[in-house]
Amino acid sequence: MTMRLTVEPITLHLKTPFRIAHGTSTARYNVLVHLGDGVGEAALAPQYGYTQADVAAYVEGLDLDALGGDDPLALEESLDRLPAGPPPARAAVDVALHDLWGRRLGHPLYRLWGLSPARCPLSSLTLSIAADEQDMRRQVREARGFPILKLKLGSGDVALDEALVRAARQETDVRLCVDANSAWSVDEAAGVIPRLAAYDLLFIEQPIAAAEVQDWHALRRRLPSDMPPLVADESVHQAADITALVGAVDGVNIKLAKAGGLGEARCMITLARALGMRVMLGCMVESSVGITAAVHLAPLADWADLDGNLSILADPYDGARMTQGRLDFPDGPGLGVTRRSEREQDGNETGK
Ligand SMILES: [Mg+2]
Repeated sequence: MTMRLTVEPITLHLKTPFRIAHGTSTARYNVLVHLGDGVGEAALAPQYGYTQADVAAYVEGLDLDALGGDDPLALEESLDRLPAGPPPARAAVDVALHDLWGRRLGHPLYRLWGLSPARCPLSSLTLSIAADEQDMRRQVREARGFPILKLKLGSGDVALDEALVRAARQETDVRLCVDANSAWSVDEAAGVIPRLAAYDLLFIEQPIAAAEVQDWHALRRRLPSDMPPLVADESVHQAADITALVGAVDGVNIKLAKAGGLGEARCMITLARALGMRVMLGCMVESSVGITAAVHLAPLADWADLDGNLSILADPYDGARMTQGRLDFPDGPGLGVTRRSEREQDGNETGK
C-alpha cells in the first residue's frame, strides 16, 4: 500500500466547560489519522489516560505494506492485521481504513453495510453536571427543541443528583436519561435508582464504578424489577466485556474510542443483540470525523448519543449533522466528511 499515513494532533476547545463525574474539561486533545484520502479520529477522554503521543507512537509503528495485503478492497483482512494498541489509536486507523474502502467503492459506509438512515434513532443531547437546581433548569431551557436530554449526574452528593433530575423533569416533558459516570456506590445506587424511576427515565447509565462485575449483579439483586433500563458504559470497552454482564445490565453504550474501531463496534452490537441487550452508540468529545463514523452505524442502535461535535468550537470537518436530535447522514463516499476552511471553522460558534 503505497500511500501516506500521517497523524495530525488537534485541540478541540469547548463552547462551555464540560463537567462530568470524572472531572471538568475546557478543551480536549484528539488526533486525526490520515491514510491516503481516508481519515479517522482518536478521541482521547482524559479518564482513560491515553495521550496524543500514544496515538502517534501506535500509528508510526504500523507497517503499511503488511496492513494493505494484496487487495485494497479486502477491508476485513486489513482490519485483522491491525495490531492491538491503545483503543482510540486503533479506532482512528480502523475508521481511516473504512473511509478509504468506501471512497474506493464509491458509496457511503451505511450503504455498503446495507443500513437505512430511516431506522436511525434520534440522538440525545448531553447536559453537564448542573451546579444546582437553577442551573439545571437553565440548561434544560437552553436545550429546547431537543427531544431527548441526557443529564450528567455524579455531583458528589446523591441527594443533589436526585434534586437535579426532579428540577429537569419539572422544567420539561421531553425524554430524559441520566449518566452517573461511575459515581455512586452500590448502596447509593440501590437507594436512589427507585426514586429516580419516578421521573420517567429512558435509562440510567453507569451508576456504579466500572471495575467490579459482581457489583452490577449485586445492584440488580437489590433493585425492583420495574426499573428503567441499566446501561453499562465505562464497564464495557470491547466485546469480551459484555458476556459477564448478562442478567445485570439491560444495555451497553458502545463507543469507537473504547472498542478500537468500527469493526469491533459491529461485533459488539451483534453480540449484545444476541444476548438480548439493548445498544447505545455513544461518543466522546470529538470532531465531525469521529461522530460521523459512529453515525453510519447508528441505524443498528436503540439509542444514539452522538452530540460530541456540537460542544466544540471550530470543528475541522463537516459531516453528519444533528438537528434537534435528528441525525442527517452525509451522501459522500466512505465517511462523507469534508475538510472545512479556517473561515468556515470560525463560523462554527453558533447553534448548540
Ligand atoms: Mg457514559
